[in-house]
Amino acid sequence: MATERTLSIIKPDATRRNLTGKINAKFEDAGLRIVAQKRIQLTKAQAEKFYAVHSARPFFGELTEFMASGPVVVQVLEGEGAVLKNREVMGATNPKDAAPGTIRAEFAESVGENSVHGSDAPETAAEEIAFFFSGLELVG
Ligand code: ATP
Ligand code: MG
Repeated sequence: MATERTLSIIKPDATRRNLTGKINAKFEDAGLRIVAQKRIQLTKAQAEKFYAVHSARPFFGELTEFMASGPVVVQVLEGEGAVLKNREVMGATNPKDAAPGTIRAEFAESVGENSVHGSDAPETAAEEIAFFFSGLELVG
């Protein structure tokens, strides 16, 4: 499998509980490299743009309000098959369904406040990385 990059977000429920380092350790232990990272706070409009694909879902308002409710850490993870590997490390969307040892099993508070976001395919990863990072910020 080829070296890939994927976009990860440590969500406001996790930054509020000071879990950035514990979550980053999970990525690094799985062989993912954090090749870019910054802590920012999204406006509601920016969260709506990022999650536009979910705009028709009933939880869209709740999701975008939550994502703008506190700081997030946006990061680019790199490694062999990084998109899928990251989703394995994250665990299922609903922490009740997440496998033991995954980030969401250990840290997520609910299906909405579930500690991390990860791109779902190489194509969306490229778009999501470009949403947050310029080429200059990606040093590898
Ligand atoms: P993400 O895209 O954040 O990595 P995901 O791919 O596992 O998560 P999606 O189906 O893309 O899940 O949903 C995007 C986000 O919307 C979820 O991570 C969660 O925060 C929120 N969400 C999904 N389903 C629900 C729900 N039933 N109620 C509230 N929020 C939800
Ligand atoms: Mg998703």
